[in-house]
Amino acid sequence: MSFTLAIVGRPNVGKSTLFNRLVGKRLALVDDQPGVTRDLREGDARLGDLRFVVIDSAGLEMVEDDSLQGRMRRLTERAVDEADICLFVIDARAGVTAADEYFADILRRRARHVVLAANKAEGHAGEAGASEGWSLGLGEPLRISAEHGEGMEDIYRALKPLA
Ligand code: GDP
Ligand code: MG
Repeated sequence: MSFTLAIVGRPNVGKSTLFNRLVGKRLALVDDQPGVTRDLREGDARLGDLRFVVIDSAGLEMVEDDSLQGRMRRLTERAVDEADICLFVIDARAGVTAADEYFADILRRRARHVVLAANKAEGHAGEAGASEGWSLGLGEPLRISAEHGEGMEDIYRALKPLA
């Protein structure tokens, strides 16, 4: 009764930080520089009574060519195709960007299930930005803080019925 969860989203929204929190080890590289995670990383995650495989993807990039970004994008699409569930992360402080909209479109067409999380929402930060997430048409944007461990129960409640 296990499943695979791919964490996807544009660079620098906190995907690797969330991956590390779910896996409980610092396997993924976290950096201030966007796009630091180059390849897919896999780990065994636990959240409450859920056990699953989690994939930390390269940031989705809006470039379709043979550049590094194009390669990262294809890697991410592979993660989306392999995953049972995609956890789509946006930045609550930045609100919804054009890149988020572009990739929400890909996820709506490609992913089996999508859970939307608005990260960096510790305390009362990013309330407006998180609400913008409704416009993506992927359901309720869960306000989380990967860095501070907030909102993990909401992720659990969203994943549990899909597991
Ligand atoms: P990725 O490119 O999507 O994998 O993002 P990272 O996990 O590498 O994080 C990018 C930056 O956002 C780093 O400086 C993190 O410390 C920061 N960050 C990640 N999660 C949070 C959070 O919940 N709150 C805040 N304030 N910053 C965060
Ligand atoms: Mg990363």
